Amino acid sequence: MTAPRVEIDLGKITQNARCLVRRLSARGISVTGVTKAVCGHPDVAKAMLDGGIADLADARVSNVIRMRAAGVTCSISIIRAPMVHETKDVINCCDASYNTETDMILRLGSAARDQGALHNVILRVEIGDLRDGIMPEDLNDIASQVVATPGVALRGIAADFASLGGAPPKSGDMALLSRLADQVEGECGPYVALVSGGGSANLAWALGEGTTGRINNLRLGEAILLGTNPVSGQPIDGLHTDAFALFAEVIEARLKPVAMLTRPSAPEYGKLELVSKCGQRNRSILAVGQLDTDASGLTFTAGIEFIGATSDHTAVDTTDSPVSVGSEIKMGMNYSALMRAMSAPDVAKIVHRSLPVNGMVTDRGPQRPLRLV
Ligand SMILES: *Cc1c(COP(=O)(O)O)cnc(C)c1O
Repeated sequence: MTAPRVEIDLGKITQNARCLVRRLSARGISVTGVTKAVCGHPDVAKAMLDGGIADLADARVSNVIRMRAAGVTCSISIIRAPMVHETKDVINCCDASYNTETDMILRLGSAARDQGALHNVILRVEIGDLRDGIMPEDLNDIASQVVATPGVALRGIAADFASLGGAPPKSGDMALLSRLADQVEGECGPYVALVSGGGSANLAWALGEGTTGRINNLRLGEAILLGTNPVSGQPIDGLHTDAFALFAEVIEARLKPVAMLTRPSAPEYGKLELVSKCGQRNRSILAVGQLDTDASGLTFTAGIEFIGATSDHTAVDTTDSPVSVGSEIKMGMNYSALMRAMSAPDVAKIVHRSLPVNGMVTDRGPQRPLRLV
């Protein structure tokens, strides 16, 4: 089969989604499935919906267009603030957008009126991540402007954590977001239907003991796809962590000195031949590189150790697990490696349509490659 390739077990994604939907609904929190790390791959989106997720979100309009073209009809919101040139597409293919700038909200209102549509606006509030977000003291003003703008409706407010700043929410952050929801309602009138607390970094809080207040939604990507907590990198109890695997072909396998001398002018260079075989290790070169994935985010099976990667090659030590040229190595990916592999044109994406049977995931369906369009 072609390589490099990502193999995707849709059944495991569905099971992860179902598990998170069930655990969070017990806390009064709905789950929005975030598809940006898989470039809006429609089969992955549908696997999330099969797990009981009601709506999706993506950061890029191109990904939303890909999902719409593949027949995904559920509500989809755009979680990165739209760019001016995308205004029309956002109105046409997204039910809601996350915004922080009134200029953009006015444009969205005007484009929605032109199309005879009503577009939902969710205001992103800055509570510590210091990426994009309205300062809490400015929220009432901007919310009032949304309410006064024809063509748009104020649907909710949202916070974000562990994105730029890397930190999970501090105690009190979620209570602040709840208070802001009450405050906006008091000032501007309409019910703030959606109070979205953040992404997978908030799961520990959401599934904890504390009260959830007004928080009634999380936007989850990593937890559904990889079953891991983005803050700790640790697996989340009860979730599959192997729904995705990357396969690459070995294009060279030979003994090499442990330390390579790179300067032929170095006095030690001539002595290289004197290094005995026991000072050498099996080094294998894989036909996959930084252009295809984030090599530092790859994990290998026992006996294979990551050495380094360039744009097109990844070197691994295979002394304890010999491989031959032409064979394939299977790797796990963290979120960053997954994101890059899913968007790389030279990495094939193969979906397995497995069906959960008695709690077990079994592979039932034909494999078919899907190209990004
Ligand atoms: C990516 C993203 C998410 C999902 O984050 P995960 O850590 O993958 O759950 C949620 N909200 C916003 C705004 C995002 O950009």
